[in-house]
Amino acid sequence: MSNSTDVFVIGGGPAGSTFANLAARRGFSVAMCEKDEHPRFHIGESLLPMNLPILEQLGVLDRVERIGVPKLGADFTMSNSGDEALTYLFDRSLGDNPDHAFEVRRSEFDQLLFEASREAGVDARERTRVSDVTRLDDGTHRITTIDSDGVEQSWSARFVVDASGRDTFMSASRGWKSRNPKHASAAVYAHFRGVERRPGENEGNISIYWFEQGWIWMIPLRDDVMSVGAVCYPDYVRTRRGSLETFLLSTLNGIDEARERMLTAELASEVQATGNYSYLSSRMSGPGFLMIGDAYTFIDPVFSSGVYLAMTSAASGIDVAEAWLSGGGLRYKLACRRHERYMRRGISAFSWFIYRFSTPAMRFLMSNPHNRLGIVDGVVSMLAGDVFNNGSVRRRLSLFKAIYAVAWLGSFRDSLAARRRKRESVQQSAHGAA
Ligand SMILES: Cc1cc2nc3c(=O)[nH]c(=O)nc-3n(C[C@H](O)[C@H](O)[C@H](O)COP(=O)(O)OP(=O)(O)OC[C@H]3O[C@@H](n4cnc5c(N)ncnc54)[C@H](O)[C@@H]3O)c2cc1C
Repeated sequence: MSNSTDVFVIGGGPAGSTFANLAARRGFSVAMCEKDEHPRFHIGESLLPMNLPILEQLGVLDRVERIGVPKLGADFTMSNSGDEALTYLFDRSLGDNPDHAFEVRRSEFDQLLFEASREAGVDARERTRVSDVTRLDDGTHRITTIDSDGVEQSWSARFVVDASGRDTFMSASRGWKSRNPKHASAAVYAHFRGVERRPGENEGNISIYWFEQGWIWMIPLRDDVMSVGAVCYPDYVRTRRGSLETFLLSTLNGIDEARERMLTAELASEVQATGNYSYLSSRMSGPGFLMIGDAYTFIDPVFSSGVYLAMTSAASGIDVAEAWLSGGGLRYKLACRRHERYMRRGISAFSWFIYRFSTPAMRFLMSNPHNRLGIVDGVVSMLAGDVFNNGSVRRRLSLFKAIYAVAWLGSFRDSLAARRRKRESVQQSAHGAA
């Protein structure tokens, strides 16, 4: 038997649930299949302030407030330097953006978004994996799904959205996916109890520690749990001989400031790793389909932009689906072009900072901020996720880039060495698994 729907969404993570919810609210029939069952663990727990308007649009902001820890900003520390952590608070971002975000357990957050899509009228199914998507001559797509009992079903959809995350269902199977030639990193992470939090209102802030081989995150979650992870050059991760746990603990032990906060810490989950995860797809859309969130690209978690970009690509992509469903043609082409340009603008604003995050010049500028001409306010706005439309943010980020160029030249030898180190790491990771 074949089910028929206007929109079919592959994957029920933040991107898929957002798209499905908004498409149903526009009156389309929507089916979404998720291969796992919620609640399930997922990494990516720190949200950005600019996420909040989307959560409001989905009608779930109050529920996220209940499960989340308020996050007023981010602090950065150069490890083993003896320097104080430097805190960037979102309340100084430009415009009237929200002055806070939330840290969330993704098991709870993703479940909540998935359920909200059901409430909006989506036929949302769990434990159901998409195994094939084929475009038919009449322009529709035939989708095959398999549930956990092994039962196959066939679907007919007028528009398909790939929100399958790192599985990259469409781009991997169609040969559109490639490694990011400019970036490579791998991560090892776990939950701990008993990690010291920042004092007072800042207790929910994310902490970032630069170290020789990469950087560390600490994300405070509810019930005294702290998500702690090390994002490293893949060649450093390949030096691991013992267990992941030993590797993570010895990495953390080498960082004075992290060790001090973890004196009474106990592991509260298994330690997990994600190999080199930086990739892109050569296509974002095509006749009757769109890729959103990590299914299209993922660069690096350093600015906690993943969930925000995933949900933004879903919210912006609705117009693409609508243009196709109301006849396609030129209107569809224009909608695709508008959406792709919009998404690329945001992604490239984050990428510029991500690619340079571990350079001596960036460490220096982020640790010694001077707010001449509101440049720091512009950087804070970027940290809050305001990277799409705000001209005054873009102007300040351009000024920051000019200052960065001067700082890069000022630390010429170290900068060149860092560039060489990164290039080697990217090349090595292209020739072997991280
Ligand atoms: C180490 C690390 C740390 C990170 N930290 C942060 C952070 O602090 N903040 C942040 O915002 N982001 C972070 N991210 C990024 C974040 O995890 C992702 O960007 C985000 O989850 C993307 O959402 P998505 O909906 O596109 O994909 P996902 O959340 O991965 O959802 C995709 C869903 O599709 C399902 N699926 C896959 N294939 C199929 C199939 N064939 N059929 C049916 N279902 C399928 C999967 O089971 C999954 O539930 C981090 C990433 C990494 C690797």
